[in-house]
Amino acid sequence: MTQKNFKKYFVLYFIGFGITISIFGAYIGYIFQMQNIQKHMDLKAKEIFDIKLETILKPTIKNMDDIVKSLGKNSIIREFLLTNSLHKQREVENILLAVTSIENKIMQTRIIGKNGKEVIRVGRLSENNQPFIVEKRKLQDKSQRVYFQELSKLGSETIWHSKLDLNIENKKVEIPYRPTIRIAMPILQNGEFFGVVILNLLTKEFFDAIGTSTSFEHFIIDKDNNYIMHPDKKYSFNKYKGTNRKLEDDFTDGLKANGIYTYSINDILQNEDEAVFILKSKDKYQDNLINESINTGIIVFILTVILSFTMAIFTSKVPTRLQISLLEAHRKLKEFTSIIDRFIITATTKPDGTILSISNAFIESSGYDNNELIGKRMDIIKNPNRDKSIIKDLWNTILNKKTWIGEIENRKKDGTSYWLEQHIVPAINENNTIESFVSIGIDITAKKELEKFATIDKLTGIYNRRRIDEFMLIEIEIAKRHSQNLSIILIDIDHFKLVNDTYGHQIGDIVLKKTTEIISQNLRKSDIFGRWGGEEFLIICPHTNEDEALILAQKLRVAIESHRFETVGEKTICLGIAQLKDGDTDKTLMQKVDNALYSAKNGGRNRAVVFA
Ligand code: GH3
Ligand code: MG
Ligand code: MG
Repeated sequence: MTQKNFKKYFVLYFIGFGITISIFGAYIGYIFQMQNIQKHMDLKAKEIFDIKLETILKPTIKNMDDIVKSLGKNSIIREFLLTNSLHKQREVENILLAVTSIENKIMQTRIIGKNGKEVIRVGRLSENNQPFIVEKRKLQDKSQRVYFQELSKLGSETIWHSKLDLNIENKKVEIPYRPTIRIAMPILQNGEFFGVVILNLLTKEFFDAIGTSTSFEHFIIDKDNNYIMHPDKKYSFNKYKGTNRKLEDDFTDGLKANGIYTYSINDILQNEDEAVFILKSKDKYQDNLINESINTGIIVFILTVILSFTMAIFTSKVPTRLQISLLEAHRKLKEFTSIIDRFIITATTKPDGTILSISNAFIESSGYDNNELIGKRMDIIKNPNRDKSIIKDLWNTILNKKTWIGEIENRKKDGTSYWLEQHIVPAINENNTIESFVSIGIDITAKKELEKFATIDKLTGIYNRRRIDEFMLIEIEIAKRHSQNLSIILIDIDHFKLVNDTYGHQIGDIVLKKTTEIISQNLRKSDIFGRWGGEEFLIICPHTNEDEALILAQKLRVAIESHRFETVGEKTICLGIAQLKDGDTDKTLMQKVDNALYSAKNGGRNRAVVFA
């Protein structure tokens, strides 16, 4: 990913995260708001019921009840009715006039006699006019009115409420409509009915007072679901007006639906209506509350997005910087690996030696190309000259999950040989089994070439084969010229292979070094000592005949036999001895000493034998 892309993705992820959080938050907020709206409406409805019913309707009705009661209990009125004495009439008229003028809602105040005929009536043309006494001739007979019959049978002086209805004048609904309620009390004496005190109240005013609010539509229905009050005035008193309006038209989901509140007003206005006051939340009101909460949600949402965007820009700076240094580190690593690939000869193989991957340097040094190597065994670069014991030691080491370090001679595709100094590391997996081998090598062919010109053996520090060969020629030449004695001793360690096989090549090397050391300590200055090859050593002894050489050989044999080698313990050697005779060349002398050594081995080892 480039740096620009990274920043873009980071910002996008951050904003995506911000948006998710804000959608989630807005949703939770919305749910809470909805609950709040519900609570808010419940409270509001309760408040309206309290104000409209408890503080407007109830005191008004109570006030009227009290007026009727005071009239009914008034001794002048009672006496007037019981005795029917006309001289009290004026007094009673004055009382009724006084009471009516107190309250302009009172449209009529009447006293009806026990026969149902109006005795006195105070009337009012409209609520703005002063009350007056109705002429005697205009007084009516109410004996057939349902309310009169009801009141005459009541049997106790209790306050009676009529239904809420429209004023009827001369058996017709008066127009303009005048919503009316009658409040009355029968007058009894010793259980006998004598008449009625009755008020006609104009209810328009308190309908107006309880009929509106900003948040709800207000209804009053009677027990038969007729509308007494409807926000659309033409449906109020629909039963009387004959306007058809069903409850379902306004309350499609019934009165139990959400946003609808009902309250019985029968305990305030005890009558046949058994009226129920209904509040229905105005759609607009509820919508406004919802919109308000949605608006808040949208604002919070937008703010969160803006905030997450700004934060994304800011916070992306650190990871972007980190990413830059990561890219830099990555670039350097790539550079290093390409250097390693170019210059270090590496290979990864399966545990059975099948090549899995190789570096370019490996390809270059071996002369094969990639396809010729992948999937093949490492044997492909095996050189037949290889010392088998080294390979055996290598496998022993790495199969024991240890790192092997050593020099190996390989063969290129063109048949020429090349040397590698190898580190072979087993890769162990979590099950503690070997998953693969990683070999890291450096080409030491040139070094090996140089070693050929050296005169000292690297491992033991004594003369090498090349040098000892040269000395042999020189010493033979000198001995012949001066007719001097010359003997050579060839030494071979017994069962040396066993040391390598049992303890590994490195321990073998230690034994070789120690053997060299012990032999060196037992030689004269004039003796020439060198490593002939592997675990074979040659000593050239000038001025020495075969008997003297045998003594030296035995001394060396005993010295080795009696030494306790570290780790390995006892070790023995065989020694072959040959003296230079007339006609001998370096070659014949070497054959003789070799024969003698062979005899020593055959004789059971740990012995010194003179060529015979
Ligand atoms: P024998 O008694 O018949 O001599 O038995 P041997 O096991 O010594 O037989 P042989 O001479 O055939 O084996 C010599 C071994 O010495 C074989 C070779 O792997 C090992 N060898 C040669 N050079 C070195 C060296 O530089 N270091 C080590 N550790 N081993 C070497
Ligand atoms: Mg040998
Ligand atoms: Mg040997």
